Formats: sequence, structure tokens, C-alpha cells
Amino acid sequence: MANYQTDEALCLRVIDFSETSQVVTLLTRRHGLMGLLAKGARKVGKSRAGPMGGPLDLLCRGEAIFLPARADAGLGTLTAWDVRDHHPQLRMELRLFYAGQMVCEFTSLLLSPLDPHPELYDQLVAALELLAGPQGRRAVVAYMKCALTEAGYQPRLAGCLACQAAARPGRTMRFVAAAGGVWCADCRADKTAMKVDGSVILALARLPTPLRLRAQPPPREANSRALLTAARLLMGYARYIAEKPLKTYSLAPAVFEK
Ligand SMILES: [Zn+2]
Repeated sequence: MANYQTDEALCLRVIDFSETSQVVTLLTRRHGLMGLLAKGARKVGKSRAGPMGGPLDLLCRGEAIFLPARADAGLGTLTAWDVRDHHPQLRMELRLFYAGQMVCEFTSLLLSPLDPHPELYDQLVAALELLAGPQGRRAVVAYMKCALTEAGYQPRLAGCLACQAAARPGRTMRFVAAAGGVWCADCRADKTAMKVDGSVILALARLPTPLRLRAQPPPREANSRALLTAARLLMGYARYIAEKPLKTYSLAPAVFEK
């Protein structure tokens, strides 16, 4: 008897495969990240009423029924997909779609397959909901910080790792990916580490999670330039951890500049 599973999921990546199928990467709430073959998902016409309800799209949230991959095989099988939120507002503006792509790639880069992170799943749902609103840019950076923390790489931003000098506006700090934290300009001679003003480090340290941003939106408007710097810092850190470049790194200016 096949061991079918059901779970809530977000679609992080879609590749068309053969004339009628897709290979998708889903972040499921209780089963973690998984690659699945969605057979027949691209069939058009009458089959739209079938178990897939049409092709899967990036950023959509739904209910999945699937057979997880066996330990010796790469892909599981998606047998049914019921879309709950297609996030149409993120498909109306390129900047918002880029932001969605950015958080999707960040997630698949940092998480291991079949390692459940229900808390991070909820944070990603909240971040995607916030993207099109006034907290959208903040939500991208807040989610990146959350994903790093959940993956076991919480950035250490309280102060210089060597002398404990606190970050403050006007004090130049350097983020050292190999140490997962910041050093002050006096302690760190390595000029290759990313230079960033203390004000950005302070703001990043205080930035709440997407769920908290949604519950209690900060009244002050976010500083887009500071958010762009913070996003670059966190993406550089993720690239160091995963030892893989982020394809969406180059989208950051379009996402954060006004
Ligand atoms: Zn120092």
C-alpha cells in the first residue's frame, strides 16, 4: 500500500518536464523541503478539473498529496495539488515577484530536504502576505534573518566579536561570514569582509520576524538603502554557508530601491 502524505505547502521552484509534467520544489509545513514530480500537471483543457487543478506556479500556497522520495531516489511524486492562495498581487509588479523569488531561493539554499521547519514555514507564509504592503521590503530581510536562524546560523550582531564594542551609527563594522558576526574596524584588519555602518547592524539586530511585523507593524517607514545593505549582508552570509551563489543576488537593487 502506497504511503500517501498530505501537507500544506509553498511552491519554491518549478521546472517544466516533458510535455505534460513538472518537477517542483515544495516547502511543506510538516515534512520540510522536497522535490516532487508532478505528472500531468501541464495537461490543459478538461484536466484542469483533475487532481492538479492545472500547472503549479512559483509562490503559490496549497494542499499537497504526495508520495515522498524513497531514501535511494531523488524525487517523490505529487499526486494532487489544491491551490489555496495564488498570490495574484505578487504577479502584478516585477519588483514584488523578484522579492518572492528571492525568499524562495534563500529557503531552498539553506534548508536540507525532508528536514521539517514548521515555524519557518509560517514565517514564509507571513512574509509573502506582507510583500505587497508597506512592510514588504522589511519582510524580505526579516525572513532572511529568520531562515538563517532556523538553519542554525543566527547572525551575531550584538557587538564586535573581538572587543565587544557595540554597533552604533557612524561606527564602521565589518561582517565576517566565516565568523557569522561583526567585528569593529579597530579589530578587523581583513578588508575583504563586508563594510557596513553600525546603524544597519543595529536595525538588523532589532528587526522582528515576519509574523511579528504582521501583528505589530512598526509605524516608521523603513530605510530602503539600509535594507538593501542588510539584504546583501545576509545573502553573502547564506552564499558562504551554502558554498553556492544566489541567482537572485542581482535582483536586490530592483527589490529595495524606491
Ligand atoms: Zn572590536
